[in-house]
Amino acid sequence: MFENASRTEISSLGEFRLIDHLTKNITLRNNTLKGVGDDAAVIEHEGGTCTVVSTDMLVEGVHFDLSYFPLKHLGYKAITVNLSDIYAMNAKPKQVTVSIALSSKFSLEAVEELYEGIYLACDRYHIDLVGGDTTTSKHGLTLSITAIGEAQKEDIVYRSGAKANEILVVSGDLGGAYAGYQLLEREKRVYLDNPNAQPDLSGFDYILERQLKPEARKDVVDILKNLGIKPTSMIDVSDGLASECFHLASQSALGITLYEEKIPIDPTTYNFARELDIDPTLCALSGGEDYELLFTIKQEDVSKIEFHPDFSMIGHMTDLASGHKMVSKSGNVHDLKAQGWTAF
Ligand code: ADP
Ligand code: MG
Repeated sequence: MFENASRTEISSLGEFRLIDHLTKNITLRNNTLKGVGDDAAVIEHEGGTCTVVSTDMLVEGVHFDLSYFPLKHLGYKAITVNLSDIYAMNAKPKQVTVSIALSSKFSLEAVEELYEGIYLACDRYHIDLVGGDTTTSKHGLTLSITAIGEAQKEDIVYRSGAKANEILVVSGDLGGAYAGYQLLEREKRVYLDNPNAQPDLSGFDYILERQLKPEARKDVVDILKNLGIKPTSMIDVSDGLASECFHLASQSALGITLYEEKIPIDPTTYNFARELDIDPTLCALSGGEDYELLFTIKQEDVSKIEFHPDFSMIGHMTDLASGHKMVSKSGNVHDLKAQGWTAF
């Protein structure tokens, strides 16, 4: 199938160039304010209310490993990571659809467990599950979730709105989900070597939760509104801080400078990374799955947020020619590298 003289491997493009290649010639024909290229698409209605839509697919063996990922947690996480994209538009999620492909290894009880997690997330985030699709698969489980949200046109925040000298802010802390993933992988290897060994997970609750039960930052949209701040650009941290910085910078046609010492890292993350001999900063930059919100604010808004415990100011936007930089703890300036997940 598809045999012809020239064949290009998808791996030679990578995820982002593949998406760009497939979507670069789209002409928008309807009331679409924003199509491909942000955390969610934006559809405008009469009166200025907008619908925002985002979709994500999770594939067993690629995005999750059921040997240590409980199905209930998987259901919960599948919903929250989609809601995160809606919050990243400064919008409120309202509905989800859930589509599943199941192989015969799954029992009814197993799928019920998955849905327990899905419904728990819908309860906690006040979301309606309004549809989906169910089909079989040859191997394993695939989950596809679409989240639908709402915002007023003037409240929506895109990746592209940042200006030079604006301040880069991130909620919460970073690198924890990756540390949790490394811990689970380590304990899986121990178990495979010796099935009688008990997993050694004590003291690591925080990073395990960050990996197995991430929350979307539904509070940030309201906190910022109450502080009187509208971010000028925003994205959620799904691939890692570095990759998200590249997205904000490139879509705003700017450069960006990060300060390593300002990057918020929880002590549990820090200590576990050190135990594994991984640089904790690298966990934050390239780990991903933290589902925090990364955004830029005007300098005049700094005083409203600088002492707020939920936020850290970690850098600023520069002109395009200044490139992507990180000032290390020792004061050296490095080129920022985005080593996001290569899915192919
Ligand atoms: P996120 O990490 O925020 O979920 P992605 O990196 O997955 O975003 O996707 C980037 C953009 O490309 C989004 O606007 C998404 O809707 C779009 N996109 C991804 N895959 C496809 C595809 N196969 N066809 C059309 N648009 C796509
Ligand atoms: Mg996103």
